[in-house]
Amino acid sequence: MSEPSPSIALIAHDQKKPDMVVWATRHRDVLSRHALVATGTTGTMLLRELPELSISLMKSGPLGGDQQIGALIVEGRISLLVFLVDPLSPHPHDVDVKALTRLAVVYNVPMACNLATADILIADLARN
Ligand code: PGA
Repeated sequence: MSEPSPSIALIAHDQKKPDMVVWATRHRDVLSRHALVATGTTGTMLLRELPELSISLMKSGPLGGDQQIGALIVEGRISLLVFLVDPLSPHPHDVDVKALTRLAVVYNVPMACNLATADILIADLARN
């Protein structure tokens, strides 16, 4: 049996969730052609607005969802990580955010932490 193709991972801190919905709406065509995974609250919000997307929901970030996505990176199952971070608020799960960022670097997974980079990486994906 062949491996499932890698997924795009989507995560947004609370203040950035509206941006994530706007971004995903703008790129819904390319996103709809890929398997997606998301942390619980981000993914639930996206599915409400864009029910045509296929999103596997992890736990909420503070409850381990970031670490679950980190584990998928380790297994080679993530092709792109869009993590819209809010640098202006404290987060109880800051260590998980740091660990996820570290794994994306270790495994050379393209990672966007802001909208400008997310636009560039999704455009690149759409071309290939
Ligand atoms: P959430 O998690 O989508 O469940 O809010 C995001 C996060 O890591 O803060």
